[in-house]
Amino acid sequence: MNQLDITGRLLPDTACDEMILNNHALQFQPAIQINNTTIHCTRCASDCEKAEAQLPDETYFCYQCFNLGRLDSSMKLVHLPGINQFEVVHPVLTWKGRLTELQQKCSDEVVKAFQEHQNKLLWAVTGAGKTEISFAGIAWALAQGLRVGIASPRVDVCVELYPRYQAAFANTSMILLHGKSEEPYQYRQLTICTTHQLLRFQDAFDVLIIDEVDAFPYANNDSLQMAAKRSVKKHGSLLLMTAPPVPSYANNTKLVIYHFVFIVIYCLKLKFIFALTGSVKSTLTKSPKKSFLKSYKKLNDNNVFSCLFHELKIYKLWTKF
Ligand SMILES: [Zn+2]
Repeated sequence: MNQLDITGRLLPDTACDEMILNNHALQFQPAIQINNTTIHCTRCASDCEKAEAQLPDETYFCYQCFNLGRLDSSMKLVHLPGINQFEVVHPVLTWKGRLTELQQKCSDEVVKAFQEHQNKLLWAVTGAGKTEISFAGIAWALAQGLRVGIASPRVDVCVELYPRYQAAFANTSMILLHGKSEEPYQYRQLTICTTHQLLRFQDAFDVLIIDEVDAFPYANNDSLQMAAKRSVKKHGSLLLMTAPPVPSYANNTKLVIYHFVFIVIYCLKLKFIFALTGSVKSTLTKSPKKSFLKSYKKLNDNNVFSCLFHELKIYKLWTKF
């Protein structure tokens, strides 16, 4: 283990070599905070019942993030603020595909968001090419020597994405991390991992993209959403990607309503444009429901139903992110 292996990480002191622990730049914090009836885990931010978390030697452990390795009250969490030491080899983007006009528009927005350190939500139908839309933004960040993370709640998505990113950024060092992988952690410019793995990062990424934010277990999971925010540097960018409709948000009435309102506004906008041009005006006024479905189907068929919020503020209202 060397200094770079702990850069941007949040690890138990027991996982670090003695030599690393002597680094004066290291930051330490108690792994477990003990309260009256509960304990608080500083890795996953969960509260556990004291009675259930107590060990025979009178220490306490967090049973919420036990699958990442036992963390108990005798330990400290160690962190070294993220630094970037990457060799940039050109060309950074080795993907040779082409974007449609609308995809390009979204892609430009993503680049701008990363350049301006903004957080954004990319909401586009399945098959709309969200991954490819993000390529230009990632390429920009990598070319600046910045550190990039791509996370998904699902292991199978990470495994499927990895070779695509390997092909698209063939000259960039990268690593795939998930609970079933046997490859040991290595400091790489591009990290592809499950959202659970983000619990082991802090102030690591200049750009973090989370795919399928609607999927289990990320959706409505406070620990994983906290970990995502914590793993991004102070002036970094977070891009969330999702596809409508959002099945696992089915119980989130507010989001469903918002989704519906968004579609209605979008269709009204289309109606206004159509009215101006004189096309399909009669169809829209005669049968609003039919035209709505037709418009929505058309949008889906053309894979153009996509949007970017300028801020995460609106999104936060619905997900308490
Ligand atoms: Zn925990």
